[in-house]
Amino acid sequence: MKLSRSIRLGIGAVAVAVVATACGGDETRSVSQSAENGTLTVGIKFDQPGLGLRNPDGSFSGFDVEVAKYVAEQLGVPEENIEFKEAPSAQRETLIQNGEVDYVVATYSITDSRKEKVDFAGPYFVAGQSLLVRADDTEITGPDSLSGGKRLCSVAGSTPAQNVKDNYAQDVQLQEFDTYSLCVEALRNGAVDAVTTDDIILAGYAAQSPGDFKVVGEPFTTERYGIGLAKGDDESRNAINDAIDEMIASGAWETAFQETVGVSGYELPEQPTVDRY
Ligand code: GLU
Repeated sequence: MKLSRSIRLGIGAVAVAVVATACGGDETRSVSQSAENGTLTVGIKFDQPGLGLRNPDGSFSGFDVEVAKYVAEQLGVPEENIEFKEAPSAQRETLIQNGEVDYVVATYSITDSRKEKVDFAGPYFVAGQSLLVRADDTEITGPDSLSGGKRLCSVAGSTPAQNVKDNYAQDVQLQEFDTYSLCVEALRNGAVDAVTTDDIILAGYAAQSPGDFKVVGEPFTTERYGIGLAKGDDESRNAINDAIDEMIASGAWETAFQETVGVSGYELPEQPTVDRY
């Protein structure tokens, strides 16, 4: 019998749902418990050069990846026992709440509204929102030059997209994509005039395509990057905070920075202080 397209799609959807239930429970995880069992599942970005990148050979690189590995090691889990999972901006809280990841290290700003759903260790880095434009653009120099209906791209579920909606909505046309790499492609082919997110992320894209793009203006927000984990898992949060402290004090934090985002020319910022709220 030949199945109609809609029926076949229906069967596919059921199969996906079953797989999703099988590998990600409905219960949040305890990081310490997973570490005791010997493996950790960590959410990172897959498309942000210098921060969280899945390389063509299947390996992972970037500052967030180094932080994730350092923390895992301090919890007693060697890097070969880490499973990295893609954590797009809009899915980070859900991945943690559903227990699909143990923790998230994915340019993840600590905010009060996110703290209603998840907890954060850190900050392990402080960045700021900025703008990426094509290298030959002379009109856009900062957020105040976006007026006149400029087309701006950012990512759904991110703090920079929210900031644009809250503070610049009358002046710009915001387009929200799932990932920043899609925004950068839209900038490259002229579908948008600028991309906005944290300066450190934009510096990575600019360095990846020399001569094509530039980061303009001064950062106009403060983005404190935390490691997201299940709400109420205080024992694990303390242990992760200890690991971040140790990474900074031992010099591993600076080395990791220089070998990843530092390569883009982004200057080494001040070391952050962990906030044990
Ligand atoms: N740091 C911001 C955020 O957490 C922007 C970067 C991102 O979307 O990952 O939303």
